Amino acid sequence: MKIKILQVGEIQPNILDIIVDNLNKRFKNKFYFGGKIDIPEDSYDKFKNQYNSGVVVKTLKNEKGEDDKVVGITSNDLYYKDLNFVFGLTEENVCIVSTARLDPQFYGNSANFELLINRTLKEVVHEVGHMFGLKHCTNPLCVMSFSSSISYVDDKKDEFCKDCTLKISMEDIRI
Ligand SMILES: [Zn+2]
Ligand SMILES: [Zn+2]
Repeated sequence: MKIKILQVGEIQPNILDIIVDNLNKRFKNKFYFGGKIDIPEDSYDKFKNQYNSGVVVKTLKNEKGEDDKVVGITSNDLYYKDLNFVFGLTEENVCIVSTARLDPQFYGNSANFELLINRTLKEVVHEVGHMFGLKHCTNPLCVMSFSSSISYVDDKKDEFCKDCTLKISMEDIRI
């Protein structure tokens, strides 16, 4: 199995290398960096000044090629249906994660690259969990718990809880 990490539009430098390295340590070398694509123009909502994550994900499906799964990462701010923002969205075997609201500078705090990486990793692992069939977890420390704001992201770990680990490894073996 191969999972392609794609840069979608612009992103803060060096993030993707670090994320790919880290994912490969925990998921046994399945991830690779597959280059950059533009964020689809028709996903942009000029009234919200945000991008529709549903449209972005549909575009990513066309990038799948030989790969089993695709993870897009963007610094553009995303929304989904009635949710005024989302950190990420998964549909089947593709997902998108936005670093826009994971960046401390979004909340008026000073730049903190380590914190940005740490939060991005959590949200990428979360969406990867969804791609492997995991649903939201009620354990607030589990990476699969749903984060409705940044404080929930900071409160959870970057790992699956025991229950989710059991489910994802079963799923992984099946694939
Ligand atoms: Zn989720
Ligand atoms: Zn869990």
